[in-house]
Amino acid sequence: MNKSIPEIDVRRCVARKCYEGELNFSFDAEDGLLDIPLVAFASPVTARLRYEIFEDDAVEVKGTISFTLRGECSRCLAQTEETFTHETEALFLPKAPLGEEYGYTGGIVDLAEFLRDTVAFALPARLLCKTCEEE
Ligand SMILES: [Zn+2]
Repeated sequence: MNKSIPEIDVRRCVARKCYEGELNFSFDAEDGLLDIPLVAFASPVTARLRYEIFEDDAVEVKGTISFTLRGECSRCLAQTEETFTHETEALFLPKAPLGEEYGYTGGIVDLAEFLRDTVAFALPARLLCKTCEEE
């Protein structure tokens, strides 16, 4: 599995009449996204995405990301870790983005901002160990 964020080369895909594909990769999340004291990413974020290029060159990206957090339980301070999986989807338009959508230029879809937003959205507000979760 590649450990970097791939780009989608829309022009090349269209030239090859290949309008959909899969992207499986992992990447290091920015530590600055995580705002829980004494908790860190235990491993790179794993992404399993599918993309589809439409006739108007809009690109739909769908899939899941998952990551593991490790550190002190926010309540009892025991060491704990938990894996989170989050479903995501986005539409990339070959123009300036409108509201919820992302834009792309030069025929290349850059997934970095979308993945940063997805990780930020998927992060929990706190990390609880199994014992505290059951209470
Ligand atoms: Zn606990």
